Order: sequence, then structure tokens, then C-alpha cells
Amino acid sequence: MQFRNFKMVSYVVYGRGSFNQLDEILAPQRKGDAPMIFLVDHFFEGKPLINRIPTREKDTIIYADVTNEPKTKQVDALAQQLKSEFGTVSGIIGIGGGSTMDLAKAVALMMTNPGSSAEYQGWDLVKYPGVYKAGIPTLSGTGAEVSRTTVLTGPIRKLGMNSDFTPFDQIVLDPELTKNAPVNQRFYTGMDCYIHCIESLQGTYLNEFSKSYGEKALQLCQDIFLEKNEWDDSCDDKLMMASYAGGMSIAYSQVGVAHAVSYGLSYLLGTKHGIGNCIVMNHLHEFYPEGVDVFKRMVDKNKVDIPTGICKGLSDDQFETMMNVSLGMKPLWENALGKDWQKIMTRDKLRALYEKL
Ligand code: NAD
Ligand code: ZN
Repeated sequence: MQFRNFKMVSYVVYGRGSFNQLDEILAPQRKGDAPMIFLVDHFFEGKPLINRIPTREKDTIIYADVTNEPKTKQVDALAQQLKSEFGTVSGIIGIGGGSTMDLAKAVALMMTNPGSSAEYQGWDLVKYPGVYKAGIPTLSGTGAEVSRTTVLTGPIRKLGMNSDFTPFDQIVLDPELTKNAPVNQRFYTGMDCYIHCIESLQGTYLNEFSKSYGEKALQLCQDIFLEKNEWDDSCDDKLMMASYAGGMSIAYSQVGVAHAVSYGLSYLLGTKHGIGNCIVMNHLHEFYPEGVDVFKRMVDKNKVDIPTGICKGLSDDQFETMMNVSLGMKPLWENALGKDWQKIMTRDKLRALYEKL
């Protein structure tokens, strides 16, 4: 038995207003006059948060276009732009949702690794530590702030750069930054966390480590999305910690059916991670009976729409593409259904599931 020995985020600060400490946190990381690069979710352009970013001298704010989820091409272009403009940088600070945080991680790695980020999609392919990187979430749920991956769509595959060099050196968890997130987006990203918990807790890879974090994150999600009648600051506080704990839970287990199927949707149709997981979860009663019942209650209570009929009219080839992407996620299926998963999730069964979505 080989136990996973995983690298974690080095520094964590948590609390309302902790963003105000960013200047002193970054100061010791500055290397001569090499700038800090703040990669900020484009939603914040022109918003008051921008004036609170502690830029010094050559520091630069770059707005990340996260209309679509991050691509290897986008990562390569950003790294190239920074190298030609500055030579080297002191660090990359990602401020935004999971997409911006993933971009920041990937660009930091590509400042020191040769070639294209597409060459590093996989497990432990990254050769050199990147430059210093910090993550500051403005949406809670993905767990991207704690994970050892950065999910990218490349020319051939949608897969992360999974490596010990990938986790952030620093994260700043300030729930104030999530305050004005739109209700639907907040729900979809929050459900990503809820689904991480169900998939981890119901998976065959489960151990006490994952369970301890998964149960706590699950309880926080239920407090927020089922018990509370109105969203208040305490919900933002809790969801930020649920995201962290949910991420820690899957670090030592794996996600499951919802993610495996949703990856196929996002590859073919560009469906976003959070909403894609919700679309799939709606139809997974057979695999996660209790988890899906509670999920449906959360959807009702929060008055959110989950799209249906998104696979209507797709061709056989398109279904094949989605199934190939999905069935390629072997560890996810094995975690969900056990070693004999291929006997349970046959191509016919998966096709029938996609047709329902
Ligand atoms: P997102 O980062 O894609 O952002 C969704 C939308 O919300 C964007 O339009 C963005 O501009 C906006 N937004 C962000 N913060 C906001 C705020 N405070 N107020 C208003 N709008 C705001 O959404 P997400 O769900 O956080 O992230 C999804 C991404 O995370 C996907 O690309 C997925 O692949 C990735 N992901 C990564 C990991 C990992 O371990 N690395 C895990 C899960 C998901
Ligand atoms: Zn997820």
C-alpha cells in the first residue's frame, strides 16, 4: 500500500478584512524590483476592491477574462506576456473564483517551466517550482484554493496540471470578498463543494482523514443551504470554510460520478464546472440516494434553476465524445463504484444518463 504524501498550501490567513494584510504578507516575497502581478477576475474591473490592491512600483494588475474556463492557450499567452514585459516577476496573485485561481497557479508555473502548459496536463509532469503564488477566493466552493491541481482545457484534453509545485504558497480567505456574489453563481459554486462532500463520503477511497473534513464541510453546506432562511455574513464565513474543508477531503480521496459525467459535458458543450455538476447531480439518485434528495431540497429552498434538456439533439458522435472523456476519468469511477466499476457503468448506461440531462 502506497500512501499519498501530498503537498499543502504553505500559509493560510482567514478572517473578515484579512485582505487588508496583503501588503505585509507580500513584502518578504518581493525580489528586488521584480513586480507582483495581480491577476484579478474581470468582474472586479472598476469596482472598489481594485483600489485596495496593495500595488507598489512596477506591480501590475491584469484582468482575467473568465467568460470561459481557463485554457492552456490563455495560460501560455499570459506567461509569455509577463516574460517579455518584465523578464521575471516576484509572484502571481490570483483574486477571483476557481477559474482565476487556476489561471494564477498555472501562469506562476509557466514562468519557469519551458514549452506549453499543455505539456504538463497530467500527474507530476511539472519540472520546476514556479514563481511565488497566492490565491484569494471571491467565490467559495471549488476548493481550488487548497488543491494540487489547476484545471485547464488544452488542445487534446481537459485535465489539470497536478503536481507538488501546484498548490499556492499563500491563501487569503476573507469572506467579505464573496459578499456580493450573484445568488445563482454562489449556489452553483457552493454546490460544487456539497457534491465534493457527497462524492468523497460515499466513495470507496474514503478514510478518516477525508471523512473528518468531508463531514464538517457537509454540515456547513447544510447549515447554509437548508437551515438558513436568509443569506447573511455568517453564510459567507461558513461557505468559505466549507470550500476549504471540502477541498481537503477530496485531497485524500477523490470525486465521483457527478464530476466524471460533468467533465464530458464541459469538454463537448463548454458547460461550466459548478452548473454542470448540478445538472448531473439532479439525475444521480441511483448512486447517491440521500445526497440527491438533500440536493433537490437545497435547489427548491434556494429557488435556483437547474437547466434541463442540454443534451437534446446531440449526434451519436457527440455522445461518444462525452462518454470517452467521462470514462477516461478512471480514478473517479473507481472511487465511486469500486474496482469493478466498468461492469456497473457500461457505455449503454452512461449514454442513457447523458440522454436524460
Ligand atoms: P468562476 O471562477 O468560473 O467564476 C464564475 C463567474 O463568477 C465569473 O463570471 C466571475 O467573473 C464571477 N465572479 C467571481 N467572483 C465574483 C464575485 N465575488 N461577485 C460577482 N461575480 C463574481 O467560478 P467558480 O465556480 O469559482 O470556478 C469554476 C472553475 O474552477 C472551473 O474552471 C473549474 O474547472 C475550476 N475548478 C478547479 C478546481 C481545482 O482544484 N483547481 C476544483 C474545482 C473547480
Ligand atoms: Zn468540483
